[in-house]
Amino acid sequence: MDFSMTQEQQMLKRAARELMEKEIIPAAAEQERRGPASKEEVRRILKKLVPLGFLCGPLAEEHGGQGLNWLNWGILLEELGRGWAAMANTAIIQFNFAHQIAHLGTAEQKKKYLQPSLQADAIVSHSYSEPSSGSNLARLGTTATHTKDGWILNGDKVFISLSPVADWTLALAGIKGGDGKDSRGVFIVDRAQSPFTVAQSTRLGLRGMPSGEVSFVDCKVPLENQLPSAGYKETLIMLTASRLEIAAIAVGIAQAATDMSIRYAKQREAFGRPIGSFQLIQGQIADMVAETQAARLLTYEGLDQLDKGIHVGAQASIAKFYATETAARVTTLAVTIHGGYGLQDEYPVERYARDAITELIPDGPPQLQRLIAGRQILGMSAFT
Ligand SMILES: Cc1cc2nc3c(=O)[nH]c(=O)nc-3n(C[C@H](O)[C@H](O)[C@H](O)COP(=O)(O)OP(=O)(O)OC[C@H]3O[C@@H](n4cnc5c(N)ncnc54)[C@H](O)[C@@H]3O)c2cc1C
Repeated sequence: MDFSMTQEQQMLKRAARELMEKEIIPAAAEQERRGPASKEEVRRILKKLVPLGFLCGPLAEEHGGQGLNWLNWGILLEELGRGWAAMANTAIIQFNFAHQIAHLGTAEQKKKYLQPSLQADAIVSHSYSEPSSGSNLARLGTTATHTKDGWILNGDKVFISLSPVADWTLALAGIKGGDGKDSRGVFIVDRAQSPFTVAQSTRLGLRGMPSGEVSFVDCKVPLENQLPSAGYKETLIMLTASRLEIAAIAVGIAQAATDMSIRYAKQREAFGRPIGSFQLIQGQIADMVAETQAARLLTYEGLDQLDKGIHVGAQASIAKFYATETAARVTTLAVTIHGGYGLQDEYPVERYARDAITELIPDGPPQLQRLIAGRQILGMSAFT
């Protein structure tokens, strides 16, 4: 067991931090104040992230990857989360789209959709959650009806990240017709070719990343846009890896809040001395460092298991709930350490706290992650 980073990992982390500090962080505060970024702004920021491998993650080189493994990509995501969590989430959406196409798509689909999403020439989204089924995707209301001319999609989706600016979305729907069986399928819906409506929504955190409600009304999708053999089960498998990505981003947010609190505690004075000299503040800082490092180790272990081809179901869920809850706790402590300034947007800690709370929910809230882990640990399902 070796807990130290290799030279290659240290270089990667340094390069990511330099890029973040020079190109990404300076734009973050202002954009987060303004709210959802426009399509041009999303594309401009993503383009800056392409060369280091933020969008292609651990995709194989034959699919446009750059030879990164999961662990190294997690290191990159942590740095991105530390600098601008909304853009870190944006990057994983682009990657997860390409990952799904690379693993489940036809040769034609790979040719058409992989490069534009990896290069941020096309912005993408994932339309899974619905107004009455988020945690339980098995109860989908959206339908895909098979006709001789193609699929017809009907239904509503909510909380869909990037949907207001996305060119393509991957839609999960219940299949009607065809061989007469009811099952579920995943469809690439090209907004230009198969128009659907999107109503932009706002939320507590990750404000720079646009989000919206998607409505498919008799939306005609060509037959060849169905991902072959991709359905509910394959979508859930993809979400497993994505939980480790969110965990890595949450570790980055917790680290940012810890770093800022250490700096502030050394310089802010109360009762004629730096607040960092008070025992209670020192205890809080020590808790922040300990919990962030524990979350990092759980996340790295899960990513390392992915690299080794080990099944990560429970590990991904444990890392996700522990890292996101850690980020929520650590950022709350950071706000209290900053006192009244912790709630002003001239300091980024209030954004860290809002972003950390927001990260608790996507790809399954903490309760769901505990149930997934519990099912594997105990061999009994609480869902059925
Ligand atoms: C920032 C953000 C980005 C998102 N991006 C996307 C996206 O791009 N695409 C997409 O499709 N979706 C997206 N979502 C939606 C997200 O995946 C869902 O919100 C999430 O899965 C929870 O579903 P829900 O909101 O319907 O909550 P519900 O399923 O209604 O759950 C409500 C509460 O009940 C709990 N609960 C549910 N079932 C159980 C149970 N069996 N036992 C115990 N507790 C239970 C949950 O843990 C939760 O606390 C995003 C959400 C957020 C916040």
